Amino acid sequence: QYFLTEIKRQQPTSNAFITVDEQGSLNAAAAADAQIANDQGGALTGIPMAHKDVFCTNNVLTTCGSRMLENFVAPYDATVVHNLQTAGMVCLGKTNMDEFAMGSSNENSAFGPVANPWHPDHVPGGSSGGSAAAVGSGQIPVATGTDTGGSIRQPAAFCGITGLKPTYGRVSRYGMVAFASSLDQGGLFAHTAQDIALVLGSMAGFDPKDSTSTPRNDEWLTQIAQQGIPQLAPNLKIGLPTEYFQAMTDTDHLDEVRRILQQLGHTCIDVALPNTQMAIPAYYVVAGAEASTNLSRYDGVRFGHRCENPESLEDLYQRSRSEGFGEEVKRRILTGTYALSVGYFDAYYLQAQKIRRLISNDFSNVFRQVDLLLTPTAPGPAFAAGALKQDPVAMYQQDKFTVPASLAGLPALSMPCGFKQGLPLGAQLIGPAYREDLMNWEAVIGL
Ligand code: GLN
Repeated sequence: QYFLTEIKRQQPTSNAFITVDEQGSLNAAAAADAQIANDQGGALTGIPMAHKDVFCTNNVLTTCGSRMLENFVAPYDATVVHNLQTAGMVCLGKTNMDEFAMGSSNENSAFGPVANPWHPDHVPGGSSGGSAAAVGSGQIPVATGTDTGGSIRQPAAFCGITGLKPTYGRVSRYGMVAFASSLDQGGLFAHTAQDIALVLGSMAGFDPKDSTSTPRNDEWLTQIAQQGIPQLAPNLKIGLPTEYFQAMTDTDHLDEVRRILQQLGHTCIDVALPNTQMAIPAYYVVAGAEASTNLSRYDGVRFGHRCENPESLEDLYQRSRSEGFGEEVKRRILTGTYALSVGYFDAYYLQAQKIRRLISNDFSNVFRQVDLLLTPTAPGPAFAAGALKQDPVAMYQQDKFTVPASLAGLPALSMPCGFKQGLPLGAQLIGPAYREDLMNWEAVIGL
């Protein structure tokens, strides 16, 4: 009741939600109460949460931030939705997002932009801007998100909270509307890494319905609800990649973290990730190419928006897609189709895949020397609404510190880390595959 009231109070200015499921959540809360009364509740029973509107929810609208799916009600639950429901969590609604998760500012949503909780004229980040703003403004204690190139970490940084993109394959993509399938990964927003770990324990795990989900069940993860967060090795070796720091004009907040880490007995080492600057171009080729094929299913025939009175099949496809998709989605479909077309495939897609391998190799090399990497999450704090909207390439550059871990499939977490001009800043921890257990940042920085 408390969070439903908070959502209603803040929605007119925040616009963090696309759907609020009042009746469904009250029913689920009553069921959770009954379970707790019978002593059958688990660690998460009755905890309110919200899903990014990219996760299919049985009987509740799933729009993906698009006109194309504005009336789409999925006939089933995504595995993530099912898992958290089974753990007893109560879903209060679906959060706003950039259309089909394409964007870094939440200004590409067909349902309007979302306000940054610290400053209403600034963006909350994207694409999971609704989830980040909802948690950052106290409308919900925890929310899901998806991260293809930074869509959990960058909005977490802009809203002053914690966001985790798990290792690719850790969380099932079944029922998560696809953007770029080799990069998409579900994850979480909360105030602390400990809260995230607790929910991740129920959300993650092998799913036979997702062929890229990993068949491993790390004990630390499955036992979090009973045994808590694992202890950290006391003396971590933490790498600071030179390429990331050189790309920043001001690293005061990270210098402070470095000082704290050393004081606590961790070792900080400067390391090199030489292929970093090729990450953005490679990402936007791979992500666009995969998006162009994934989004071909929205043809006005099977599901999604259909235009009125089509004159022919061609007209049906053309008008349904022209009316249903927004500008950024069209840009990705066009550039992606171009990159995959005969004669250009070798020059763009194949090259991008080779760069992806080089970037992965950079990470494998540094993780022979260090346990974790510390980097900025984004080039600066949340920018003003409208500032980058007319300049897609400048918008894409916002992702330069988050995209490399996505290309390599590695887990990465953004933690709150100081302020600049009254707006929060984030720092990113990147770890080796399946080592989310090292990202308990409260323990790492001694809180
Ligand atoms: N901002 C990036 C993009 O627009 C990342 C999006 C995401 O992670 N879903 O593609």
